[in-house]
Amino acid sequence: MNRRQFISMSSCGVAVFVIGRDTFGAAEKYDLVIKGGRVIDPARKIDGVRDVAIAGGRIAALETSVAAAAAETIDARGKLVVPGLIDIHTHAARNANGPALCLEDGVTGWIDAGSQGADHIDDVIAIAKSSPQPGRILINIGRAGILPEGDTMDLTRADVEAARNAIAKNREFIVGVKARLSRDVAGTNDFEVLKRAQQVATSFKIPLMIHMGQTMSPLPRLFPLLKRGDVVTHMFAPPPNSIIDENGRILPEVAAARRRGVWFDVGNGVTGHMRWDVVDKIMKAGFWPDTFSTDWNVNSRTTGVVDFPNCMSKFFKYDMTPDQGTLLMFLE
Ligand SMILES: [Zn+2]
Repeated sequence: MNRRQFISMSSCGVAVFVIGRDTFGAAEKYDLVIKGGRVIDPARKIDGVRDVAIAGGRIAALETSVAAAAAETIDARGKLVVPGLIDIHTHAARNANGPALCLEDGVTGWIDAGSQGADHIDDVIAIAKSSPQPGRILINIGRAGILPEGDTMDLTRADVEAARNAIAKNREFIVGVKARLSRDVAGTNDFEVLKRAQQVATSFKIPLMIHMGQTMSPLPRLFPLLKRGDVVTHMFAPPPNSIIDENGRILPEVAAARRRGVWFDVGNGVTGHMRWDVVDKIMKAGFWPDTFSTDWNVNSRTTGVVDFPNCMSKFFKYDMTPDQGTLLMFLE
């Protein structure tokens, strides 16, 4: 465990400050003490100012004040100190530098959501294998992965057998299937693509993540195909395929999906996946996200996405409080 595996967050971004490096050598009780930050750990139901002491790569003490000597001390006053964040919708595996960059943002576990399909799955598996933190893959049902002309505009690319073979060979890294369903990705094939992606996912009993919004088919046609454990990303997509109607009511098919255990994920992104008036309406209807995610790539620092803490902070202005289980996800 080192400093980078912690995150301390302020409204202006991520920052940690080393304020002292003691020289007690073997007499030091701890390797690192993070002092005075607001520690949020929903798993232990902690939300308060604490000192966190680390020894031998493990949390050794979590107290109001840790006085014992440490090799390194971080002043985290005015910052949040949280366990590692898991980003379930990234494109970290599109670039060899991706995993290390998002680790700097406090992301200690990432999932690449459909950058590649069966044809080039080895490329993203290699990056997951060499990642400094755990990285996993959702395989794109489109066998050629993300294509400028649309992953599954040509329906033959939604190849069930090719995806199954790729998963069978890489079962420890592929944790689900991704179906991108926008009109410029799947066109009128969206329903059939979703059906095929679900065939693949169910044969391995793994989740399917769908990219919603901007589809040709209305959501009430698509959502009944989702099973417990599946994930809907870009949940704040604007009309015409928003999860909420013009009267501020969550669509019945959407509410039913949540009741049967489908997860709803932020998927911030930059291409019209989130519009503030829509976010406002959905949050005010009490339909909060189950998971945060960025739709991150190596260029995100210069876009509205920035990083995971930035995406997360957008929801602090609503009634969502940091100790709610829905707000943060952790590596156990
Ligand atoms: Zn994405």
